Amino acid sequence: MAELRGGIDLGGTKIQTAVIDAAGEVRGEARQPTPTEGGPEDVAAAMAKALREAAEAAGVEPSELAGVGVGSPGDADEKTGVVSSARNLPGWEGSFPLGEKLSGALGTPVKIGNDVQVATEAEFQLGAGKEFASLIGVFWGTGVGGGLIFDGKPWLGRGAAGEIGHMVVKRGGARCPCGRKGCLEAYAGRSAMEAEARRRHEKGEKTDLFELMEKHEKPRLTSGIWERALDHGDELAEELVERAVEALGTGIASAINLIDVEAVILGGGLGIRFGERYMDALTKEMGHHLFVDERPPAVRVASLGDLGGAVGASLLFAR
Ligand SMILES: [Zn+2]
Repeated sequence: MAELRGGIDLGGTKIQTAVIDAAGEVRGEARQPTPTEGGPEDVAAAMAKALREAAEAAGVEPSELAGVGVGSPGDADEKTGVVSSARNLPGWEGSFPLGEKLSGALGTPVKIGNDVQVATEAEFQLGAGKEFASLIGVFWGTGVGGGLIFDGKPWLGRGAAGEIGHMVVKRGGARCPCGRKGCLEAYAGRSAMEAEARRRHEKGEKTDLFELMEKHEKPRLTSGIWERALDHGDELAEELVERAVEALGTGIASAINLIDVEAVILGGGLGIRFGERYMDALTKEMGHHLFVDERPPAVRVASLGDLGGAVGASLLFAR
């Protein structure tokens, strides 16, 4: 069974796992909610549980897998398997040897990678980016993350490459969740969009966003809530999504001016939901900023959906 590999996508709200064969087919999958209390030990235990379930669904023991890859948020060190500053996870301000802990619990080697980078690699090898040699993955969700493939190989820089969400689209602009000003994520990240909607709503601008959120019993403005509001013609929602798309077009075009890759793969919760709907607006905005505008890059919506992160993590054992 050495040809089977495991993958774990560690998200802020859920842990998605999958067992994948050599052809990239998913043989088993499972998910667990991410613990909201406790600390890294509890998160690691939930990850091991979810991976065991996926292995069971695939008819193997975790110890029979060739290895288990993890796509992690925060500062994930591929060399040591240590994850630091995963601030959307409970009690994870410091460093934790996640690779070592999981390897011990599962009885198989574990490799740790950056969540967005591994999702980009999955789209490159098996999804919307298959036909290209060089691309940038842009994951438009709670934040805005990015991953890079140059000439068929992942480009990690010194470990922190691809942070397109923190490219500056407006000097001295809106405050970003990272604490700096004018980043792409300050305009396009779901968290920042929600904060801006709330500010404007409190100042008296009309919107159904928060009523919809309560009606559907969501703790936050999910991509589904934004979509419902747009479908109702909610003006504030339209304005903020258009503002986000403009910021994305500006940031992506600036990145293309620097790296000139063949394609942009747009993923993430908002990217998958709104990619087609706003494709024209996005490419039009990019066109305003592309230095070489007669041959823009292809822009595609990610095709692996929710499982992309876990599939990409498993590919850490195929590099
Ligand atoms: Zn930032």
